[in-house]
Amino acid sequence: MKIKDMLYNGFIKLNNENISEPMLKARLLLAYVLNAKKEYLIIHEEDEISENKVNEYKQYINRIITGEPIQYITNHQEFMKLDFYVDKNVLIPRADTETLVEEVISKCINNEKEEIKVLDMCTGSGIIGISIAKYIKNTSVTCIDISDEALEIAKKNATINEISNIKFIKSNMFEKLSNTSEQFDIIVSNPPYIKTGIISLLDKEVQKEPKTALDGGEDGLNFYKIISENAYKYLKNDGYLAIEIGYDQKEEVVSLLKNTKKYNEIYNKKDLCGNDRVVVARRV
Ligand code: GLN
Repeated sequence: MKIKDMLYNGFIKLNNENISEPMLKARLLLAYVLNAKKEYLIIHEEDEISENKVNEYKQYINRIITGEPIQYITNHQEFMKLDFYVDKNVLIPRADTETLVEEVISKCINNEKEEIKVLDMCTGSGIIGISIAKYIKNTSVTCIDISDEALEIAKKNATINEISNIKFIKSNMFEKLSNTSEQFDIIVSNPPYIKTGIISLLDKEVQKEPKTALDGGEDGLNFYKIISENAYKYLKNDGYLAIEIGYDQKEEVVSLLKNTKKYNEIYNKKDLCGNDRVVVARRV
């Protein structure tokens, strides 16, 4: 079959199933099957493709129809202009999280210390810690996650991005740190924050992401409670806590932080869509 016919068939199948961006997905998948860039498809649209490749492509199209996110098929997502490996064991990096990373990077730039110690709590695929380590050379980054599978992926992503100023710890939140005296200049986190009852109402693509990476408990605040009650113990004086939040969680998260009386200078940042997305606080 010719490239142009494969693309057309893929597009029609996806479009008939009301999949969003059917042409883009048909192209991305075919480029992935052929191990080529999207532009290749245009120049080579008359090329005949082997039956094996045609079958592989059809399988991927069917996986998309079942709701699988394309990133889990191509095992790739770009974040902060860097390449990341992703699969079903980790949350797919979201553009909104760049707002959080950019805020932390701006704190690092304004910090004149020789070494800035950063903790990325609930690192998942490692995007936050790795982006900070990549763009700010004088950081020493610690990434924590509870999932062995996620940590393996985060390590792989550190290798892909040639990062060495980074280490990984398996821990349920702060547990493993409790017998160390480690203190950080910045603690950053994008923890799970969706209310348990809402998850089953979200898009079917989101349903394919790990529940542990989404589920913030009944009120969505489980992890913010743990973070606000513990982060200050591991922050240097004047150190920063920077966390991603759901668009409607600002008031609740800010009051959790205020109630501890351990943080001041609390402020928030909006994402590019204008939603509240990041809360920053400074250890008293
Ligand atoms: N820190 C990772 C990210 O932002 C994982 C977040 C999570 O699993 N909740 O993508």
